[in-house]
Amino acid sequence: MKVEVSLILTLLLTACGTDHKRGSGNHPPMVRDVAAELEQHVNQFEHDYGVSVNFWVGFAKLDHYAGRCTWWSNGARKVEIDPDYYVGLNFAQVEQLVYHELGHCSLDLDHDDSTIGFSDISGQWPKSIMRSWAFNYSESQVYEMHRDHYVEEMRR
Ligand SMILES: [Zn+2]
Repeated sequence: MKVEVSLILTLLLTACGTDHKRGSGNHPPMVRDVAAELEQHVNQFEHDYGVSVNFWVGFAKLDHYAGRCTWWSNGARKVEIDPDYYVGLNFAQVEQLVYHELGHCSLDLDHDDSTIGFSDISGQWPKSIMRSWAFNYSESQVYEMHRDHYVEEMRR
């Protein structure tokens, strides 16, 4: 029972709270405004996918979510990363989280919770960066080993 509660809490804290195309009220300015700590990952994303991130990417307290993409009907977007969740992440996990939210907000991708096997490691692993909850430490190691797969998988 305790394990189940812990798992549910972990899933809630690591989940993505996408508000895909459902922003309401005032939209943020449509200009590139990226938090310094996230700049390296956003810049790499732009390089990997040949896109420009012309919106706000930064830190905001999200309570139940690790990250969130909000997209307004006029095309304005913003990506929020929870700062309390961010501090516990390694480099690969930050990249996965930033790429996931930009997958929504820049590439217009939806969630994919399916799994995949790799020939050099046993077990089933997330098939996509677009899984609806963030990668844990073990998954982040598989992500590093198979980064090419994960980057390519988002070119749908
Ligand atoms: Zn998501």
